[in-house]
Order: sequence, then structure tokens, then C-alpha cells
Amino acid sequence: MDGLAILGATGSIGASALRLLSRHPHFIRVNLLSAHRRVEELLRSIEVFRPRQAFLTGAKVGPEQQERARRAGCELSDDAAALKEALGNGAVDCVLLAVSGAAGLEYGLHALRSGKRLAIANKEPLVIAGHLFKEAARAGRGEILPVDSEHSAIFQCLHGQRRECISRIILTTSGGPFHGLSRDEIKNVGAEQALKHPTWKMGKKITVDSATMMNKALEVIEARWLFDVPLERIEVSVHRQSIVHSMVEFDDGSVMAQLGVTDMQYPILYALSHPERWKAELPRLDFQNGM
Ligand code: NDP
Ligand code: MG
Repeated sequence: MDGLAILGATGSIGASALRLLSRHPHFIRVNLLSAHRRVEELLRSIEVFRPRQAFLTGAKVGPEQQERARRAGCELSDDAAALKEALGNGAVDCVLLAVSGAAGLEYGLHALRSGKRLAIANKEPLVIAGHLFKEAARAGRGEILPVDSEHSAIFQCLHGQRRECISRIILTTSGGPFHGLSRDEIKNVGAEQALKHPTWKMGKKITVDSATMMNKALEVIEARWLFDVPLERIEVSVHRQSIVHSMVEFDDGSVMAQLGVTDMQYPILYALSHPERWKAELPRLDFQNGM
């Protein structure tokens, strides 16, 4: 794979991907970036990564902004339909779908129908239309690589295993900031406390979804589509430290788990490198000194 498109480059996942690639530019070339409204942040990344194309999907682009992008060798456009087309072109081998909410649905399907690798962080479209993603991947010979940390963990545990031998998938959850509160205590919590996640630093929507546990419900459905496992075989287990990112139990009773530092650069890296593993300068778990 040579060329990467990052959709949602100005968000939390987008920033993790760009941080990873700024320190490891040899991994893959960033050829396309998109953002919705934050044009200044997008322009700053254009100036560093010099993609061929960039798109702003939720606001107009002015001539001065276009000129700034052009000086970095980049065509900046606000034509969302052209973005969809650009995902199919030869400069893009892999699409990192990191927009939030349902907005990524069409982009994800188009990437798969064009035979691309879809590294998918954006779980909502999978929850809404998982069957369409499977169909699109089949029809276009595209492939879906999970970026959500739990699903990346399961994907890694399943590598080289036979799907028929899965007895349970166990998704881990930190429990979020409200774990252990009584019904009365929970009546008084607000957005400020919901936005303080104990182990992960993420965008606002997913952080609030994590506090209400809605995120875990979405992840169960996401796992159902990604791994073709019936819902009754997918369980959730609270693990406050978020070191085990998820587990798979097989028919012989053996359990495989994937462990790691709580940093989205890891699952992003795996979605890019699979089935290889690329050497990366990232923090390591420290088993001697309490992780
Ligand atoms: P953020 O809110 O931080 O970023 C969202 C990105 O999408 C921004 O670049 C934003 O552009 C862009 N965007 C927003 N609305 C639209 C739209 N309607 N059309 C196109 N682009 C849009 O989100 P996160 O990075 O936290 O999350 C992205 C996805 O990844 C979500 O689906 C989330 O559930 C999932 N995820 C996130 C994790 C994390 O650690 N953050 C972990 C696992 C999954 P702009 O900045 O210009 O508004
Ligand atoms: Mg997750």
C-alpha cells in the first residue's frame, strides 16, 4: 500500500493517525485529507503532509485558502461529491474513516466498492448498515480493517484462527467515569463529568457515549457485523485499567487477549500494516512497574 486518505483528519482519531505518520513518514504517504469545518487545522496538516488533494465538506473554501493549499502542492475543494470520487482513484490504497456519526456511511461504502482497504474507526455506519458494508466489500473486493481498539484486539486474536471455533467474544470496557455510582449519585452528573474519561482521550461524542455505556452497546453491534458472530455470543466485561483491549474464547476453552497501551496510534497502525507488523516508536507496556 502506498497512498492513504484520512477522512476526519482534524478529529481525535485523525490527529492520532497524523501523529503516528509524522514520526514514521516511511509507513505510507498521505495523499488525501478531509475535514468538515475546521479549515485552519486542515490547512496546517496540508502544509506538513502535502497531500495531493484535500476536502472541506461542511463549509466553503475561499480563494486564499485554496492558494495556501496550492503552495503545499495540494488541491483544496469543498465539493463533497468530488471527495467520494477521489476515494476511488489510484492515489488512494487505504481509507482511514475517522469522521464522527453517520456521515461516514457513503464514503465507507464507496471506498469498499472501489476495492480499497477501509480502516474503519467510525462505528456508527457499521451499526446502521453493517450488511451493506459486507456486501460492498464482497462486490468491490475491498477489505474492512477495524480501528476501534476492542475490535482491533479481536481481529488480532482471530488472526490465523478458524471462525467456526469461536465460542465467545468478550469486549472489555473501563466502565467509564460513572462506574460504581449509585442511582442517586448518577442523577446529579452532567456533561463536564461525562467528558472526563478515566483511560482514553477521545472526541466529545464518543466520550459521552462511553460515560452512558451507549458506546459499548454500539460496539457489540459493530462486533456482530465485523466478525459474523451472533449477538448472544458477544459479552461485555468491566476491566477498569483498559490494558486488555478485548478477548476471544475458543471451543477448547482457551482465551486469547490483546494487550496494549491506551493509545489509538496502535490500532491505527495495525489497520495499516496488517498482515505485517511495522516497527514503531511508541510507548510500551511496563509489566515490572505497574504498566
Ligand atoms: P471527533 O469529533 O474528534 O472528529 C470528527 C472528525 O470528523 C473531524 O475531523 C470533523 O471535522 C469530521 N466531521 C464531523 N462531522 C462531519 C460530517 N458531517 N461529515 C464529514 N466529516 C465530519 O471524533 P473522533 O475522532 O473521536 O471519532 C471519530 C469516529 O471514530 C467516531 O465514529 C468514533 O466513534 C470513532 N472512534 C473514536 C475513538 C477515539 O479514540 N476518538 C476510538 C474508537 C472509535 P471538523 O473538525 O472540521 O469538524
Ligand atoms: Mg472502542
